[in-house]
Amino acid sequence: MADVRKEGAARPLAAVADLFAIDAKSALADSDSLMHAVLASVPDAMIVIDENGLITLFSAAAEKLFGYNAEEILGRNVSILMPTPHREVHDGYIARYMRTGENRIIGTGRVVEGLRRDGSLFPMELAIGEAEADGHRVFTGFVKDLTERFAAEARMQELQAELTHASRLSAIGSLASALAHELNQPLTAVTNYVSAGRDMLGDMSEHTKPLVYEALDEAAKEAVRAGQIIRRLRDFVSKGEVECEIISVTKLIGDSTTLGLVGAREKGVTWSIHVEDNIGDVIADRIQIQQVLVNLMRNAIEAMEMSSQKHLTIDVHAVSGDQLKITVTDTGSGLDAEVAANLFQPFVTTKATGMGLGLSICRTITEAHGGQLEAEPGSDGGTIFWFTLNRANRGEA
Ligand code: ADP
Repeated sequence: MADVRKEGAARPLAAVADLFAIDAKSALADSDSLMHAVLASVPDAMIVIDENGLITLFSAAAEKLFGYNAEEILGRNVSILMPTPHREVHDGYIARYMRTGENRIIGTGRVVEGLRRDGSLFPMELAIGEAEADGHRVFTGFVKDLTERFAAEARMQELQAELTHASRLSAIGSLASALAHELNQPLTAVTNYVSAGRDMLGDMSEHTKPLVYEALDEAAKEAVRAGQIIRRLRDFVSKGEVECEIISVTKLIGDSTTLGLVGAREKGVTWSIHVEDNIGDVIADRIQIQQVLVNLMRNAIEAMEMSSQKHLTIDVHAVSGDQLKITVTDTGSGLDAEVAANLFQPFVTTKATGMGLGLSICRTITEAHGGQLEAEPGSDGGTIFWFTLNRANRGEA
């Protein structure tokens, strides 16, 4: 292959000099050494192509990043550095730009995938510039390898997911005895109904037959109830990928209260739940939003331990066509003044065995869902926690 780097150097180099605001004439005077110096020292990978998409310059960083030597890639179509389907359509992009001047990428950076010589892909930030020399257009591409940044972000997300999961496990741990009690109730009921049914079988008459049916129906219902609690529990403690889906708000609230209100009745807590009619669906990770609700309910129940009035209210209403607001209000102690200032910071707690992580995780979850989580004093001493979520039927209200 001809030494394109040398022969084709003058034109692209003048253009590069333009981009760097270097006097093109003086640059050209010592074009060969300047070109080599520029190519060897640009920290980001730099690639220059002509108006046919053929590579005319390939910097040392580009060689390292893509795994090609400049000698072997100069003169080849730049699409070799792109995966399908971009590879097939890139010539078309340039041709359309040359024809119409319509610009989709030049002058703006974007994150795309690069294709290495060994066939592996990597994320990269690509900034494209354009210059003209001797009536010919050249395009300069600066490539930043994002592999490490993406890996670090993925690791952060993994750690966040692990922490969120650990917090769910800890919430369930503290509920263990109340949960055992909650499960015991339907199981005891099943035992009683089945025993009564069996006793009635000994004296089967037209009169006892419907009673046996009824006892077995009730036993089945109680078994289903116990099964539901176990299913919610299993889902809640599962590790699971974060998975946003369209969920019915009514079901979300119902599922969350199964765990959130465990043992509340025994503590003398009453509750009321208002969900606005036709509130529809939200787009959310079901388990994570349940986690937020369970956390707010458990905190509310704990805050009411010493209160004479113990009432928990959950209210769901639309704030716009796009968002809805879920409010958890208690009649508890109110927020401790010191805690209130840093309520959503990790490790802020007033509880002897508290970790102080719940609310900070809840806020991370709601923000990751495009919502907001806040607290304010209630009108009669308790606390109001509210958070917003995106509605699935956005804009229809
Ligand atoms: P933890 O429950 O482990 O303390 P959280 O982050 O869930 O962690 O809560 C932090 C602190 O916020 C609690 O220790 C408590 O002082 C305060 N708090 C949370 N919810 C309420 C509430 N409903 N009423 C009063 N104080 C609350």
